[in-house]
Amino acid sequence: MLNGLRKAANAVGDLVWPPVSPLTGRLVKATGQLEAERWSDIHFLDAPWCDTCGLPFSFWVGSGAECGACAARTPAVHKARAALAYGDTSRRLVLDFKHGGRLDALDQLGQWMVRAGPDVLAGAQALIPVPLHPSRLFSRRYNQSMLLADSVSRLTGIPVETGWLIRHRNTQSQAGQSGRSRRRNVSGAFAVTKTGRDHLIGKTVVVIDDVMTTGATFEACAKPLLRAGTVFVNALALARVVKPTDPTT
Ligand SMILES: [Zn+2]
Repeated sequence: MLNGLRKAANAVGDLVWPPVSPLTGRLVKATGQLEAERWSDIHFLDAPWCDTCGLPFSFWVGSGAECGACAARTPAVHKARAALAYGDTSRRLVLDFKHGGRLDALDQLGQWMVRAGPDVLAGAQALIPVPLHPSRLFSRRYNQSMLLADSVSRLTGIPVETGWLIRHRNTQSQAGQSGRSRRRNVSGAFAVTKTGRDHLIGKTVVVIDDVMTTGATFEACAKPLLRAGTVFVNALALARVVKPTDPTT
């Protein structure tokens, strides 16, 4: 029913605001679509990858294999996945979405995330967008992680819960920081609410964010969720930074 209404609204919207590519602004067949020649610029992530953090491997090393970082230090996040490698083209998609108010590709972005995330979405009872501090939400007007979570929810039926986890400490922008300072920056920034404590016990949840760089934000979200009794905290991002890796080292 809702999907039908959304399609009808899109059809009407296409007459008034013609569908344009979220990358180039050129006319395309449907809202959120990319031009055929731009598909090759997008690097979709797929197995083989680290079973825990989703870091892609350059060759198959067996199911359930972990990257060196996950093997050395078991992350709080049970499994993490991302749809795209964060490169020049996907950076434009993310930044136009995050700061440019380009929300017309949202359905497409959600579909890519669902396609990448069956391992983390299976059995999940709630999607939890990474919360923004209220002061940043005020200046940005919307939380991009919440919009992505809504898009994934429409496709999977898993409800979005925005009242269970809060960012009670404002953090500096993570851009340009090393892994260690990212961890220090976000460590302890998130807390579970009273409502969250009432609902999280025994649950499997998926934390949703737009970009995963070192995984520090997901880890900082996962720790208070686990302390509140959540059984598994998974993570799903639209894009992730991928550094070349050799799974045998
Ligand atoms: Zn890993």
